[in-house]
Amino acid sequence: MCGIFGVFGAPHAAEVTHLGLYSLQHRGQESAGIVAVDGDSVARGTRKMGLVGEGLSAVEMEKLEGQIAIGHTRYSTAGSSTLDNAQPVLARFKGGHIALAHNGNLTNAVELRSRLEDSGSIFASTMDSEVIVHRLARAEQALPEYMLAEALHGVDGAYCLVVVIGETLLAARDPRGWRPLVVGALGDGFVFASETCALDIVGATLLREVLPGEIIAVDRDGMRSFQSETPRQLHRCVFEHVYFARPDSYVFGGSVDRARRALGHRLADEQPAPTADLVFAVPDSSNAAALGFAERSGLPLELALIRNHYVGRTFIQPTQAGRDAKVKVKFNPVREVLAGKSVVMVDDSIVRGTTTRGLVALVRGAGAREVHMRVSSPPIVGPCYYGIDTPNRDELIAANHSIEEIAALIGVDTLGYLSLDGMLNAVPGGPDGFCDACFSGNYPTPAPSSLVKMRRAPRETAGV
Ligand code: 5GP
Ligand code: SF4
Ligand code: MG
Repeated sequence: MCGIFGVFGAPHAAEVTHLGLYSLQHRGQESAGIVAVDGDSVARGTRKMGLVGEGLSAVEMEKLEGQIAIGHTRYSTAGSSTLDNAQPVLARFKGGHIALAHNGNLTNAVELRSRLEDSGSIFASTMDSEVIVHRLARAEQALPEYMLAEALHGVDGAYCLVVVIGETLLAARDPRGWRPLVVGALGDGFVFASETCALDIVGATLLREVLPGEIIAVDRDGMRSFQSETPRQLHRCVFEHVYFARPDSYVFGGSVDRARRALGHRLADEQPAPTADLVFAVPDSSNAAALGFAERSGLPLELALIRNHYVGRTFIQPTQAGRDAKVKVKFNPVREVLAGKSVVMVDDSIVRGTTTRGLVALVRGAGAREVHMRVSSPPIVGPCYYGIDTPNRDELIAANHSIEEIAALIGVDTLGYLSLDGMLNAVPGGPDGFCDACFSGNYPTPAPSSLVKMRRAPRETAGV
């Protein structure tokens, strides 16, 4: 998963993008980058490993002149986590420069790449996104938006893109609409962003979603758009509402806060915990769902776990008792709230179960009498091929164990997940038109057999 941002017609486009990327930090913490294009059509870029605030300095932004810019925060799904794989990609071709930032995961990238390599292409990264850049450079069409349409034709999987070709800013969304992308107005200019929270921070007004299969072009003549691919059955990622997006955003036209509250309401209806004294969230990702559970069940919402916000990706796992220590560095229980109580612990999802097991041990260690775990999404039974870095099937706890076994493994008295129907009916715009493949096993594309090879080494979920 990644965050993408693009702006056209802002006096200091790189600075606007820098600000926008701060609001898309939750979508990717591995690297961040910006490319800006000035009035002489000169493209300059910077890409750094790490967080937006660590890598990209305000001083550097001043050097990136121009009224057009795109930016990216990266969370790697295809290709390893190195500077070579940071985005935006900036390349020169016969027609000038191409800069591109991608959110999603192409499911036929390996096939497309080997075809390009067979005809002589040399790749600078292991990212699936670079395939699109090569296809752009080879396109026969002359107008930037038609070049992009040509390049994307035959590319399968999930993509939201912001691209600069020459002095034209382009945005595109795959025909199944997997990932969110919106367009906003900023003065006389336009802004594209993965989530509306990035429009808010730069003072832009939301115009609308970029439509599935649509390409929007912005240049000196204004904004124009066309349907480049016939829209297919919608597969908006339901996990955006469950976990990924920020609650202050609207994704797929719906409020993430309202979605999570509704997930919590349904969870309380489907999986009540009548003997419990209180509810708490595993901060921060399940805050809104826990609030929903509390609202519906009538149980008080308490702050039973405190999350340390200063432990970032840089925390190095100690060698001995690593997993427990990792959880402890990140979360501490509030004994005053938990001692002697029967508690409902709400989380948005269980992936491997390792963070959850550590958390349950902490909660019990703080004196909780009974622990009832409630999860605001169904069991994750398969990996995601469309841009979220869930692990392979053998590492997914729910792919290999029954609910009763999971309850025993994580050490809870009872465990209740939201049903698939419950989830799809709770999210705005549901129940149809969502991808639920990792929960249901219904994958809308063939599983990319080579994705595993392109993935970087397995990583633990950070449990945020
Ligand atoms: P687990 O118990 O499976 O190790 O971790 C569960 C926690 O992981 C939950 O709090 C959930 O919010 C979080 N989580 C779910 N999906 C992801 C993801 O894609 N990346 C990260 N970093 N955390 C995730
Ligand atoms: Fe989202 Fe799951 Fe579909 Fe991936 S498989 S796009 S995480 S719903
Ligand atoms: Mg979490």
